[in-house]
Amino acid sequence: MRKQGWTDRLTRLAPGLIDVHTHAIDPDFPDLSQYEGTFPSVERLGPHSARILLGGQLYREVDERCWSTSARIRDMDAEGVGVQILSPIPVTLSHGEPAAGAIELARAQNEFLSAMVATAPDRFLAFGAVPMQAPEVAVDELIRCVNDLGFVGVEIGTRIGDSDLSDGRFRDFFRVASDLSAAVLIHPFDRASDPRIVSAGLTFGLGMPTDTAVAAAQLLKSRMLDEAPDARFILAHGGGSLPALLPRLDRGQLLAGNGEQTSMSTRARKLLCDSLTYDLASLELALTRFGHDHVMMGTDYPFAARETPAGSILADLSDDLRARVSRSNLCTLCASIRPGSNAQHAAKIRADRGAADSRHHTTGG
Ligand SMILES: [Zn+2]
Repeated sequence: MRKQGWTDRLTRLAPGLIDVHTHAIDPDFPDLSQYEGTFPSVERLGPHSARILLGGQLYREVDERCWSTSARIRDMDAEGVGVQILSPIPVTLSHGEPAAGAIELARAQNEFLSAMVATAPDRFLAFGAVPMQAPEVAVDELIRCVNDLGFVGVEIGTRIGDSDLSDGRFRDFFRVASDLSAAVLIHPFDRASDPRIVSAGLTFGLGMPTDTAVAAAQLLKSRMLDEAPDARFILAHGGGSLPALLPRLDRGQLLAGNGEQTSMSTRARKLLCDSLTYDLASLELALTRFGHDHVMMGTDYPFAARETPAGSILADLSDDLRARVSRSNLCTLCASIRPGSNAQHAAKIRADRGAADSRHHTTGG
């Protein structure tokens, strides 16, 4: 799907709010038990409900809103939501598990999300899954998501196993995302937080937003954004605690005295976030930090944490700002996606890597 495709597609989207942060899962989830690692599984409880298991233990009970587009559309119509962007449930990203199972899982999830979108392409868009622990495969799956499946981009976690997103082994992935001008939704996982936070029962309120801030600050400090200038990094949950911490990060950079000229706050204006803050003052801070064009409505539908009704936090914004956050900012992002432009780039990356490898072997004797 080329740029013309997105232009046409945007004109066909249903009117109303656009929710950039919703989750979906296949009730007929792939059986990954033959793979090494701890992968989630889904057990159907009946036609309308299922439970997600992780390591054989209950992770979450879910209902048909996670997979039935007709059930979702009923809720969307009731709340004035025209379009949802579907994304994997973070527990399924499985970035810390062995690659083989994660590769199969990502592909299966993308097929499922694509099929959901196909049932009502005027109502649904998608962020795909990528096996980040196998970066070269993740590049290929990213390209498939954007070029072949017509996704807005992909969703990734705040870290990949023990690696931070600023790790150089993800550079090619972000460069290709930049070439595509694709979105990369960075979403924390509720089992990855500091054990002190988990044991205190503060994972949702403190652990997840902290993980998001850590990931974002590392990306800012590493200058990964400079290497991937057109990748559209979207931070879940209003950017977590990052908006509140940017002035302190700026001061820390000054105190470090390393001559860095561009402040973290300035670089952060390239980031985007959703509006899921549950608080107008926090939303306004995110708008101040990232910019009026860089915040988009997100609700975490269909889970208990979701904002309901969708977009209620936007009620006190000006008409212009509410229109941007609830719809037009996402449309602008989609209009800039450049599918089809980077198969050559991926090939060049592989060729460059091959040349570097052969140089290494030559000089290394
Ligand atoms: Zn979420």
